[in-house]
Amino acid sequence: MTPLVPQSILDALTDIDLPRRMPARLPRKSLSVDGMEIPVYEADAVVVGSGAAGLRAAVELKRRSVDVVVATQALFWGTSVCSGSDKQTLHTASTSASGDSFTELAKALGAGGAMDADTAYVEAVGSVEGVMALKYLGLPLPVDCYGGILRYKTDHDEAGRASSCGPRTSRLMVKVLADEASRLGVPFVNRCTGLKLIRRDGKQGAAAGMLAIKADARGDGNPFGLAVFRCPAIVLATGGPGELYRDSVYPVNCFGSLGMALDAGIELTNLTESQFGIGTRREEFPWNLSGTYVQAMPYIYSVDSSGKEWNFLADYYRTTAELASNVFRKGYQWPFHASRTLDFKSSLVDIAVYRESQAGRTVYMDFHRNPGRVPGDAPFSLDRLDPDVVSYLKNNDAFLSQPIERLRKMNPLAIELYKRYEVDLNAVPLPFNINNQHMNGGIAVDIWAQSSLPGCYAVGEAAGTHGVTRPGGAALNAGQVFGIRCAEHIRANAGKNGAALRDGVFAGAIADCVGEIRRNLKNPDALSMKDVRSEIQARMSDKAGFICRDEEIGVALREAAALNAALNERGIRIENPAQIAKAMLWKQMALISEAVLSALSLYVGNGGGSRGARLICSASGTKVPETRIGKLEEYRFLVEREADRKAQIKVRYRDGQFEAREEALRAMPDPGNFYFEKNWAPFLTGQIFRDQRQRTEA
Ligand SMILES: Cc1cc2nc3c(=O)[nH]c(=O)nc-3n(C[C@H](O)[C@H](O)[C@H](O)COP(=O)(O)OP(=O)(O)OC[C@H]3O[C@@H](n4cnc5c(N)ncnc54)[C@H](O)[C@@H]3O)c2cc1C
Repeated sequence: MTPLVPQSILDALTDIDLPRRMPARLPRKSLSVDGMEIPVYEADAVVVGSGAAGLRAAVELKRRSVDVVVATQALFWGTSVCSGSDKQTLHTASTSASGDSFTELAKALGAGGAMDADTAYVEAVGSVEGVMALKYLGLPLPVDCYGGILRYKTDHDEAGRASSCGPRTSRLMVKVLADEASRLGVPFVNRCTGLKLIRRDGKQGAAAGMLAIKADARGDGNPFGLAVFRCPAIVLATGGPGELYRDSVYPVNCFGSLGMALDAGIELTNLTESQFGIGTRREEFPWNLSGTYVQAMPYIYSVDSSGKEWNFLADYYRTTAELASNVFRKGYQWPFHASRTLDFKSSLVDIAVYRESQAGRTVYMDFHRNPGRVPGDAPFSLDRLDPDVVSYLKNNDAFLSQPIERLRKMNPLAIELYKRYEVDLNAVPLPFNINNQHMNGGIAVDIWAQSSLPGCYAVGEAAGTHGVTRPGGAALNAGQVFGIRCAEHIRANAGKNGAALRDGVFAGAIADCVGEIRRNLKNPDALSMKDVRSEIQARMSDKAGFICRDEEIGVALREAAALNAALNERGIRIENPAQIAKAMLWKQMALISEAVLSALSLYVGNGGGSRGARLICSASGTKVPETRIGKLEEYRFLVEREADRKAQIKVRYRDGQFEAREEALRAMPDPGNFYFEKNWAPFLTGQIFRDQRQRTEA
């Protein structure tokens, strides 16, 4: 029998203190513009964002003697610090029981389609260094007595390459990386929101720096709190656009930088691809209900406005065992997946939960009751579950009678976590719904994480490195791998970014920004931030969420475009200088929303069907999810076309217009042909950094 884990160990893995202070960087000079003195931070590279990806990039840059500064909206905020699932997963190459190889891992990473093959290989090969350095820095990844990291199967992962330190894995990653950054003396500029990328020749040329709002820099000489970063290399590590959807499991105030990238003319990719799944609501405590939360097989039910309880899943599955086994499978099939709505598979649970929410009922998970009985069938029994479920529970000593006992046995940290937010799973059921959780697309990057704007890199969730699906944990892995890759590339190119940066370019960007702020400040005719926010979030959740209707996408796109036109004409109201950054970010969210809808519109307009976490419902669809009591005609959907797996949709914003186009995936040469002597010289001379196709402005 597995031993009980003492409370002190559970506490240490749940309450993760982060460093209170980090070394700060002060501006070395200022720029005089329009009677104002704007502080200027100078460095070889600025990393924007201090999540797991940004900190990795910063540490790797510093170790390579690059003068790097981290500018961040909030030092310890964002998804790495605040989010997780029951066991947050880090996905890596491994020696699974049956052996593994980088090519096999790369295949698994790109299995959902629309992922560049070279990116998948880079993430596979880099995962070893990615995870081992974290372990070396003190990440408490569990190992067996032989030193092997303990691993398990997760979403879209057949080989069991996932590992975890518990629900706080990414927070622990941030902790060990922040400690290392502090040891290395990486300087930080906190409370600093990047708003505009600056290019060498104004609207053209490579990256030159960034304009930001630094909340605490406001003063007499700088009434709007502006700050300038003058750096030939910029790493965007700003996470995902968490505020895009109303129904979202991201922490609040996650905006990211996709809008800033669009505004700078940078190309984005795969914006059609996001993850959605069950989670506790943002209003309470946003958290994914994956892994053991559902593998414990709690009773899932809804309550209507009169207080009546509904065992609604019994309308969907044919037997009690089928119902319970599919609740269990959501543990490692967590994200909604179009194909799993068929044949009574696990994504039928998501549709059922969604329909209950649409009907105005609140859906709960109760760990004190076993799954409800399907009419005409016997009640729940451990002995009548599907064989994969029985063997999993038995293998983990969790073949126990009540869900709470099974959860406690398999993952006591899952219970501890909610306790911290005053929810006692021993006593109360958990309300939950379907939420947006991750943007698989983002800034298009090459194999060194460089975007279409030379000198500007993107890592972590800001980068569009994933395909349609991604194995659970691949997001954290990608952030680590590309954090290393961009540092290598920036170091190799140090000093090669052309002529000195001119003051005039920065002064011009400041003057434009000041003009915009002045037009919006207390402007009664401008749109209110609150209205902009609710319009964007409602449209994205209702028309571009995990359920999309083909006839609604075009209308939603036109509405999103109309909002941007109104914002350009009337502006967004800034009530006081403290709101400047937020207002600008909401204006950028409007751009992101139109960009996503432009991509979706092109995809569906070209005949694209349901894939990954989106069901494209259509009267001309050929598949219909079936339930115990009949077909769900309203969810008749279009199926994915094989050809779409081989391309990505790229989106750019140029001269006030969105351009969306399809591009074939990048291939990967056979690594079996990479011979040592032949490839040694390219490594020694740095040619490996130049072999990539040159990225120039189209
Ligand atoms: C509930 C939930 C569960 C998840 N579970 C898993 C999992 O099990 N495994 C997995 O691999 N992934 C998981 N993910 C996804 C994963 O957590 C994220 O992709 C990852 O943490 C992103 O890291 P990041 O460093 O890119 O961004 P973040 O951690 O979000 O950090 C972004 C940083 O950028 C700063 N910032 C943002 N905008 C700006 C700006 N304009 N200017 C300056 N600074 C800015 C923020 O303050 C923050 O410091 C989960 C996500 C959620 C929401």
